[in-house]
Amino acid sequence: MGNIELFGTEAVELNNICYAYEGNTALDNITLRIRKGEAVAFMGPNGSGKSTLLKIINGLIFPDSGSYLFCGDEVTEKKMKDSAYAKSLHKRIGFIFQNSDAQLFNTTVYDEIAFGPRQMGMDEEAVRQRTEDCISMLGIEHLRERSPYHLSGGEKHKAAIASVLALNPELLVLDEPMIGLDPRSQRWLVDFLAQMNEAGKTIITSTHNLDLVQEVSDRAILFGEEHKILADEKTADILGNQPLLVSANLVDEYYHVHHDNGHVHFHDHE
Ligand code: ADP
Ligand code: MG
Repeated sequence: MGNIELFGTEAVELNNICYAYEGNTALDNITLRIRKGEAVAFMGPNGSGKSTLLKIINGLIFPDSGSYLFCGDEVTEKKMKDSAYAKSLHKRIGFIFQNSDAQLFNTTVYDEIAFGPRQMGMDEEAVRQRTEDCISMLGIEHLRERSPYHLSGGEKHKAAIASVLALNPELLVLDEPMIGLDPRSQRWLVDFLAQMNEAGKTIITSTHNLDLVQEVSDRAILFGEEHKILADEKTADILGNQPLLVSANLVDEYYHVHHDNGHVHFHDHE
């Protein structure tokens, strides 16, 4: 009791989830299963409910009705009040916020990354090793003693990712991770997520950017302006379904998909 179930194939199970902010619907009857090891994208226009659902998955807010199970165990507000349970969930699910500023609060990048392992009660030598591993994995040795507050957008993002990876989560949840990154950092992140998925981590990325969605997911869940799921299919199939994307208000009728080298691009129609 008190421990989160370790077995089974489902990472995330959402059953008939509804959520409203002061009477304004954000999620309307969302049912969804994500298996361990999957790389899934939440697509949809602004305001469709992607961030709200990611917060529920991270146990930061709780559905008004319906249920959420992580690895077979229902996550409830009551259970999350138990700090041992909450810590265990936050160790297993790494959440990278849309705005890295919201999750960086230590005086140096090193302390930022070390914060989670210290919270978990690791001894300082183990903390040092874990922190240095993450620093080298992200290639941010030069930022070790810098203040996170003064970093560039891409650097902040890497510091935030390193601080989340320091807990070695099984599930990585990223809210609009491409926003604010220059093209080289975007490319780096895409490759990095592919590597993490290859290593067995389950990945959920939210995005309303269609350019890179196929590189961070095999499967996409499309949310509509009515806060319901419009489609749950292979990412390539959703990207190829222009009428669906138009109806979801993700593209206008002048866009079409162009396949080459296995990649999908969107560009203007002459
Ligand atoms: P997305 O991430 O897809 O852009 P959100 O989950 O942020 O969508 O928002 C879903 C709906 O909930 C929107 O109508 C939004 O205005 C509303 N909403 C989001 N956060 C809040 C909040 N903190 N208070 C009130 N309404 C909110
Ligand atoms: Mg959002």
